[in-house]
Amino acid sequence: MSILAVAELKDGNLKKISKELTSAGQKLGGPVHIILFNGNDSHVSELHNSGADVVIKVNHKEFSPDSWANMITSIAKEMNAKVILMPHSLIGRDCAGKVAIQLNTNIIADVVEIKGNSDVLEIKKPIYSGKAFARLKVSSPVLITIRPNSQEVLENYQGKKEVKESKPEEGLVKVKFTNIQQVESGKVQLTDASIIVSGGRGIKGPENWPILQELADVLGAALGASRAAVDAGWIDHSHQVGQTGKTVSPNLYIACGISGAIQHLAGMGSSKIIVAINKDPDANIFKVATYGIVDDLFKVVPAITQEIKRLYS
Ligand SMILES: Cc1cc2nc3c(=O)[nH]c(=O)nc-3n(C[C@H](O)[C@H](O)[C@H](O)COP(=O)(O)OP(=O)(O)OC[C@H]3O[C@@H](n4cnc5c(N)ncnc54)[C@H](O)[C@@H]3O)c2cc1C
Repeated sequence: MSILAVAELKDGNLKKISKELTSAGQKLGGPVHIILFNGNDSHVSELHNSGADVVIKVNHKEFSPDSWANMITSIAKEMNAKVILMPHSLIGRDCAGKVAIQLNTNIIADVVEIKGNSDVLEIKKPIYSGKAFARLKVSSPVLITIRPNSQEVLENYQGKKEVKESKPEEGLVKVKFTNIQQVESGKVQLTDASIIVSGGRGIKGPENWPILQELADVLGAALGASRAAVDAGWIDHSHQVGQTGKTVSPNLYIACGISGAIQHLAGMGSSKIIVAINKDPDANIFKVATYGIVDDLFKVVPAITQEIKRLYS
């Protein structure tokens, strides 16, 4: 009986959430097995170092939510997994419900904190679009999807470092992906970013994004946006943060000219440090901000960029 996690790759690289899952599994007492679809030796060693005792390699090039879910289910049954940890990502969410139904187990989605042990887990997750957090105590067996960037990553974990190959049954496949078109969404992926610089209606127009992009570049950050900026056609929807956009959990979220509507907070409220730059001292964003600057963003943002350049030049 152990903990089973599922790794995810993006453009040939292991997504950080995969290592967050193995680390979270060790927090629960392990041992941690992780399924790696189509991975290589370097992914295996990254997973071993971050808390995986056993990496189960599965060669299956074509992603399909049906076949991946069937394979995860079959491995979970075979090893009698108590806890299944999956990324709260597009792929994770696509498969998790199916796996939970097939295993007839409980599912808890979008978890940001996990404690306890693999028999009784203590869980924290946002509810009511991020207005509040629920704390739950749940007994295994259970399937949990974890919000990317919410967990610390173990380094230099010294476990069994075992590798297994598995060829689980693909099972009944109703949905097949014929083509995946990548949307151009900036240099750094929003959902994985540890720093996000985000702009709202306060940036006044698309011609002003370079001011925010310059700050994002010096920080190695991704560019986010409010729905008002997206709806105005100033930036692509792939940058939108919030209830109808992406859910992010970076170490640092810099909100520039964003009022802090509840639908925006739903997507970024679990950020570790929030810096708000807004000229309205009563803006709602200041209620969640760790640090607030009441001033004109067109003065403040370039000043921060210059200071960071000066410090690191
Ligand atoms: C069903 C539903 C789903 C939604 N989903 C989302 C979502 O996913 N994401 C999302 O963001 N919103 C979402 N919204 C919209 C949300 O309610 C807000 O309308 C939106 O977030 C407002 O965007 P904003 O903060 O950029 O604009 P505003 O609310 O207009 O705020 C602009 C801010 O900029 C400040 N400002 C102006 N000029 C400057 C300056 N020079 N310097 C500094 N500050 C300045 C102003 O003081 C103001 O606070 C949703 C709404 C609904 C009904």
